[in-house]
Amino acid sequence: MAQAPNLRDSLRVTPGGHIDLSDVDPGATFGFEKEGARVVTDGLLDRLTDLQERLWAEGRRSVLIVLQGIDAAGKDGTIRKVMTAFNPQGCPVASFKVPSAEELAHDFLWRIHRRVPGKGEVGIFNRSHYEDVLVVRVHELVPKDVWKARYDQIVAFEDHLTANGTTVVKFFLYIDKEEQLERFRARYDDPTKRWKFALGDLEERKRWDDYIAAYEDALSKTSTRSAPWYVIPANKKWFRDLAVASIVGDTLQELDPQYPEPVDLPDGLVIE
Ligand code: AMP
Ligand code: MG
Repeated sequence: MAQAPNLRDSLRVTPGGHIDLSDVDPGATFGFEKEGARVVTDGLLDRLTDLQERLWAEGRRSVLIVLQGIDAAGKDGTIRKVMTAFNPQGCPVASFKVPSAEELAHDFLWRIHRRVPGKGEVGIFNRSHYEDVLVVRVHELVPKDVWKARYDQIVAFEDHLTANGTTVVKFFLYIDKEEQLERFRARYDDPTKRWKFALGDLEERKRWDDYIAAYEDALSKTSTRSAPWYVIPANKKWFRDLAVASIVGDTLQELDPQYPEPVDLPDGLVIE
């Protein structure tokens, strides 16, 4: 646990800076090893359980966890492993797919805003409004001036959430091209996993460099002091889980949610 706080500083995308993903090693483990990491992660998950219960009991603020990553980066796995720490009652998960006709008829934040967690909740976005500057940019689904204007719109939206009691924390799960290939192959080879493999994923893979460029821009332009991005080296699933659990825990700890003041029974009233 001693090293955990350093991860938050080491993995944060500096607000106002420019991130070059070729400077980040997706296989990094920051001195942790698989065996010892399990114990550390278990401790971090216990801490999350306690903090989420306090946030829920307090009932005044919420936390939004945004998960982004290229196909097979481990968004689903992170939700399964790390978020088991939370009581499902206070932990809504929203997965954003190709927008419906109704969603496309509205501004790009319309479907997002309605899924933002309510007071006391820790909400998880599996993909998010960032798709509107990622896949939408790579495939030129809207004109350039439209997606270019969205970075500022996203920052304004997240500022609005922050000012209204929602703490936003964003993770880019970063794997390299070779790791993605291995994961695709593993999905294809395993009959219980092949359903996760989509032919379209191979087409997207051909656009790897375009996606990396789109991610670099999104991370650089929208990492703010109140809603920072963290780049999580995610080739090693066990390190990914440890790092996300550590940073979410630090974020919640900083909020320091409190149990409400205990009520006192009026004079003469007894519980019987
Ligand atoms: P999956 O997460 O594997 O279920 O796939 C969901 C798909 O929906 C991905 O290919 C995303 O790129 C796509 N998607 C999500 N949001 C958008 C969006 N705003 N515009 C276009 N495609 C999207
Ligand atoms: Mg997919």
